[in-house]
Amino acid sequence: MLGRAEYYEPRKDFFVNCTKCGICLTVCPTYNVTYWEHYSPRGRIVLSQLFELDEEVKKSVFTCLTCGYCENICSSGVKFTEEIERVRKQFISSGYFVKKHMELYEVIKGYGNPYRGVPLIEEYREVETLYYPGCTALYKEREIFEATKKLLDYLKVDYLVEAKHCCGSTALRVGLGEDIARKGFESIREAVEKTGASLIVTSCPGCYRTIKKDYKKMFGSVGADVMHITEFLFENVHKLDFKKTDLTVSYHDPCHLGRHMKVYEEPRALIEEVAKLKELERIKNESFCCGGGGGVRAGYKDFSMMVMGERIREVKRVDPDLLLSACPFCYRNLKRGDVAVKDIIMLLSELVR
Ligand code: SF4
Ligand code: SF4
Repeated sequence: MLGRAEYYEPRKDFFVNCTKCGICLTVCPTYNVTYWEHYSPRGRIVLSQLFELDEEVKKSVFTCLTCGYCENICSSGVKFTEEIERVRKQFISSGYFVKKHMELYEVIKGYGNPYRGVPLIEEYREVETLYYPGCTALYKEREIFEATKKLLDYLKVDYLVEAKHCCGSTALRVGLGEDIARKGFESIREAVEKTGASLIVTSCPGCYRTIKKDYKKMFGSVGADVMHITEFLFENVHKLDFKKTDLTVSYHDPCHLGRHMKVYEEPRALIEEVAKLKELERIKNESFCCGGGGGVRAGYKDFSMMVMGERIREVKRVDPDLLLSACPFCYRNLKRGDVAVKDIIMLLSELVR
């Protein structure tokens, strides 16, 4: 039996900078929809530092959306999203994992993607650009994949679709899957080498972050530049002729594109080409998650739905004609709400002349 002093001895290796000030509670989506301390950043920190592992502590740690909003506001420099992934890894190695995450991991290992889809394999040829759609655009939200191809064709881009293997983004965020990420890295690296491509364009902010940032840290460069499709289209906007509409449109910043990778202006500039932008209340580095991130949609659907509902309530207060995002996964989650929603690429491809 542990004595009290011993029981409360903090694990010194996690969240060392946290002063427990609690400022982060005000912005955390899961705290905002539950008002329970253990679903707040500070609560997660205290529980993972102080207490023995059990199912409740596990739920606290695995309901974090890895949205990064707390990190954005923390004045002590706590790298929350990096740390929570380390905590998750430790929990998993101690036998505390989310069953749904483990099932997802096994499916990706077996099929090369989380949706049991048949991988799209295009024969290698010399090209300038690889289009990496990401699993959600390719297998689930196919309109985004088709719309992107339409715009790339319009711009006469010499490209090949590279979609042999999942990049491993979700698996990494939940503390699993460095082996999946390595396979994704090797697959992309091989495609770059065999095609001579100098640029990878992706539809998915999760893939974008993983390929551009995580791979670099874990395995090295893939050998080509990486752009999100909104950055690529913005760079080529002078070659695109759009029909202007009188729609009012709000833009939901995806966490992985915005806070994680600091892409805020390009999607907005593209929207201004075709419609009138009506900003939401929480935007850019203060954007509120759609509820789909960090493996929460797969592991704790009720949390995912509550956070999505809170974001949709904000959209209704602003009342645009249409809500746009720039992420297949945000689109997938937000369209469960009762507002009109599209991915930005879907709207642009409808309006290109
Ligand atoms: S993570 Fe940062 S903002 Fe949150 S309680 Fe700790 S020090 Fe305060
Ligand atoms: S990353 Fe997002 S969901 Fe997770 S604790 Fe921080 S603010 Fe909350």
